[in-house]
Amino acid sequence: MTTGLAYRPFSRWLPRRLALTLIGIIVAWLALGASPVAAAQSIPADLEAEVEIRSAITFRLDAPWTGPPPSRVSILFGLPDGAVTRRGRATFELDDGRLVASHRWRPRGTLLPGAEIEYQFEVRGTDGPAHTTTSTVVYIDPELPWQTQSEGLVDMWWYAGGDGLATDAVAGIRRGLTALEEDFGLELQRRTRLVFYADGDRMRADMGRGTRPWVGGVAAARFNLIVLYASEFDWGRSTLAATIAHELTHIAIEHAVGDPPRNLPTWLHEGVATVVESAVAERFSYEDIVQAAFEADRLISLRGLTGSFPVQSTGALLAYAQSNSFVKFIIDRWGESAITKILDAYREGASQDRALRQAVGLSLNALEAEWLATLDQSDAEPTASARVLTTASALALPLPQP
Ligand SMILES: [Zn+2]
Repeated sequence: MTTGLAYRPFSRWLPRRLALTLIGIIVAWLALGASPVAAAQSIPADLEAEVEIRSAITFRLDAPWTGPPPSRVSILFGLPDGAVTRRGRATFELDDGRLVASHRWRPRGTLLPGAEIEYQFEVRGTDGPAHTTTSTVVYIDPELPWQTQSEGLVDMWWYAGGDGLATDAVAGIRRGLTALEEDFGLELQRRTRLVFYADGDRMRADMGRGTRPWVGGVAAARFNLIVLYASEFDWGRSTLAATIAHELTHIAIEHAVGDPPRNLPTWLHEGVATVVESAVAERFSYEDIVQAAFEADRLISLRGLTGSFPVQSTGALLAYAQSNSFVKFIIDRWGESAITKILDAYREGASQDRALRQAVGLSLNALEAEWLATLDQSDAEPTASARVLTTASALALPLPQP
């Protein structure tokens, strides 16, 4: 069995700004439409949605209809819970006492596979608008033989890997959620979908144009969704469980800080995720990586890791390792409750420095200096500062080397 202990060499790290932009586009685009309308009247109808992965979702309505033709038929759709809704105009015709309508929506490659969309039709007749009940559709490749299984609040979807994958995934979910709960008091607050692809190229194609060839997965709390490349041939089994624990941590953190999404520093996200991941199994020797970088004077400034990861693969792995080391330092010094306090402060809208001051009484710079002192007693200073990007609401996972 192979292990995934090194990154595949790649020339470019995920432009998180791009990932965020893509998610931002879809959310903003969905948000452009009208708010859900309280149904004055409801009409009985058969609803259907057909997914053409990578290109479109077609929503269809078939309802009994008598009287004059409606003046307009619209589709209202968006993310579940009515949080975000968009309106589109449907084409329709009357045929033998039935109203048949449809609307083809092209998400333009910005919708992640596994995302759930809620929809209903609005029919405007002489008595004003009437609405159908709402229905949901999962945007996922209908040609793959998906199997599903639930473990607590996590719904797993996979099409290859058999019972072995499911067993290992369940182990990862349980161990990850246990570590989150016991160590940080964190838990999932909404149902979360975990979608496994056995074919990385297909996964990236389904994620849409612009997905980098080295992306091995993504966590997007906005969609309550994790998409992972999980071929049992390429991933060590324990690595799979650890990876699931890592990704669940991102979702649980976002659930904890609530809406609206907060600008959590990436070092906090990845630091806690790697700590929870390591509680399940070791994927990387983060400590050794940090120590080597420290000795070579290659450490990245933590201010630089607030919103971005470096562009180069070696720097990216170091960024994970530093995040891990820094969060472990906070936990060693102040306990896991310090992390909970930081998240609480973010939920209340605090800035990074205020959140840290509230939790541990120090600014990031002061904290960083103390952390550096634990690596060595010399007067080393943080060096290269990375470019700052906005915290990604979709956190990409790099592909481990097969
Ligand atoms: Zn991560």
